[in-house]
Amino acid sequence: MKVLVTGGAGYIGSHTILQLLEAGHHVTAVDNLSNSQMESLLRVQKLAGRSLAFHEADITDPAALDRVFAAAGAEAVIHFAGLKAVGESVSQPLRYYRNNVTGTLNLLEAMDAHDVRTLVFSSSATVYGSNPQMPLKEDSRLGATNPYGRTKQQIEEILTDVQASDGRWRLALLRYFNPVGAHPSGQIGEDPQGPPNNLFPYVTQVAVGRRDMLNVFGGDYPTSDGTGIRDYIHVMDLAAGHLAALDYLAAREGVHTWNLGSGSGHSVLEIIRAFEKAAQTAIPYSLAERRPGDAPVSLADPTAAFRDLGWKAAETLENMCADAWRWQQNNPNGYRVEAAAS
Ligand code: NAD
Ligand code: UDP
Repeated sequence: MKVLVTGGAGYIGSHTILQLLEAGHHVTAVDNLSNSQMESLLRVQKLAGRSLAFHEADITDPAALDRVFAAAGAEAVIHFAGLKAVGESVSQPLRYYRNNVTGTLNLLEAMDAHDVRTLVFSSSATVYGSNPQMPLKEDSRLGATNPYGRTKQQIEEILTDVQASDGRWRLALLRYFNPVGAHPSGQIGEDPQGPPNNLFPYVTQVAVGRRDMLNVFGGDYPTSDGTGIRDYIHVMDLAAGHLAALDYLAAREGVHTWNLGSGSGHSVLEIIRAFEKAAQTAIPYSLAERRPGDAPVSLADPTAAFRDLGWKAAETLENMCADAWRWQQNNPNGYRVEAAAS
């Protein structure tokens, strides 16, 4: 299949493109490189032994998207492009709505104009907001609590309206829980620009000596050890979920929503311990205040994805840590080769 991937140079996009290429699909990637480096896709092509088409373009630019679609001959789209930092979305909501929501509207208009109506969308567990019902099911109450989450929730609603207006659309809304880890080669992985907001990249940067110490946000949650519990999912499992969703859509119209998570949770302290074991190094940490907006627990009920897609998370926490560590050790400064030399 010819697949157009927006945000393809990013963390989840690069791992998914590698699996698409390995499965024999033809890939066109679009990215404005606002939060990624072209180097990720150069490495993906080396690992796959196959090439892809790349367009440096912004999805908020309709004319650029039109040119990309004219060149790609795409049959389906996987849509990763988006800004994803919760805190930044609170201080820059207009930028987030323009990038994520307007960008998606442009994408849908370009798809319609070019007769491409199959889309897999990167949604997030953040659409469940502070819903305390655990584990979260796809029909659990939604209520995103920050602008980033609301862009995801709004896009889900827009996609649902579009499908209701024209039954030819085939749409998959994938709600990711906590993607972590890296390709086992250690060649591609997560490369946050600036101080990481998320736990795993922060821990790996402490382990490699780029940061002194981890702040554990909250030690007084009503959990077994007082720290927050999340449903971590290996990025290779997550990538496989996209291929499974594409296969499913090949045979079915409609809007289909799936949680992509493992169904089991780990506390921050458990992650620190597992990572220390994988990396054979101590992770200095200190208990800090709760981070505003954090839920005590977030856990997926992943049974719908298994029922419909035959997909389930297979990788262990041990592998998540070992693979994240291999990536970080091989690439202490991520994809920035010049920074590593200086
Ligand atoms: P990422 O930042 O690594 O990848 C996103 C890519 O989109 C980047 O390469 C960026 O340059 C590109 N991009 C952003 N705006 C663009 C625009 N206007 N035009 C073209 N390209 C643009 O992030 P990721 O972790 O790979 O996340 C991919 C998607 O999954 C995002 O939509 C994100 O919101 C969603 N998601 C991520 C997580 C997570 O924890 N990583 C969790 C849930 C959902
Ligand atoms: N966390 C932490 N220190 C950090 C980053 C995160 O203690 O520097 C905690 C956070 O409070 C949460 C868990 O780690 O309990 C996962 O946070 P992350 O930002 O990775 O994911 P999300 O909040 O989106 O679930």
